[in-house]
Amino acid sequence: MKRILPTALSIILACCSSTKPIQLTETQLNPIPVGAQEQTIKQKRENLLEEILEQNPCKHIKKIIYYEDENKDTFCKLIEQEYNATRAQSTKLWHGLATRQEEYAALTLSSRQQTAQGKQSICVIFPKLFQIRENKEDILSCIVDHEYIHAKDNFEGIILCNEKITNEIIKKIKPLNYQDILELRAYSHQLEQIEKGKRKTSKSCKKEAIYKYTEAYIRVRDQKNKYANQALKQAPYFPFPDIPNDKLLLYRKENLPKIKEQLRKYLKESFKDK
Ligand SMILES: [Zn+2]
Repeated sequence: MKRILPTALSIILACCSSTKPIQLTETQLNPIPVGAQEQTIKQKRENLLEEILEQNPCKHIKKIIYYEDENKDTFCKLIEQEYNATRAQSTKLWHGLATRQEEYAALTLSSRQQTAQGKQSICVIFPKLFQIRENKEDILSCIVDHEYIHAKDNFEGIILCNEKITNEIIKKIKPLNYQDILELRAYSHQLEQIEKGKRKTSKSCKKEAIYKYTEAYIRVRDQKNKYANQALKQAPYFPFPDIPNDKLLLYRKENLPKIKEQLRKYLKESFKDK
């Protein structure tokens, strides 16, 4: 014990000695209240989320929560209430979401056990959504055209091979694979809204949806089970890589016979030297 104290003390002193003297500038003498700007940004984002839910009511969603420290308590209470969870479990879930915020812009939370049982989902929106999607149409595309579909699928369940997909079936086809089917459905809907002109997104939002759709399409195709095959049949677009132009194209499946010859010619031209 005697040896620990001086060591700890020396570490603190070392930190202090490296601190440079502070030069006061005009801004520092007239400080802006700490966190004032952040508060405005947070408030603006939360107001927008409230407005979205108000203007686009969704019976499949319990609440949209903006992932921000101050909302931790609201989130935990909701999880405890909805899933009969303890505070320790809800807190663990909240902190677990923090590890996803670099990767995801939004998440729809639901219980796998309650798939297709009329249970509402909780939608979590990360600050990343507002960093990568600045215009409202893009944000609506991500929330209303994508996350709402997840909530609807969780609430109602989906029909594949004339069976309603329940937790029992999901366990048979493995949960991770089911997630790919859900993503394929959500990106299909998101892209159809863009194609119909109902959602006027930015190019980058559309491009990302095309890329993610293709990723999900390939993953579902590779599953090779009857449910995945049926989900693939229901997907509206066929992805086609335009390699020379470094582009990814999506064709409506019903248009494929019409452009078959065109595609064949393209493939012949593109690969004739290889
Ligand atoms: Zn999704």
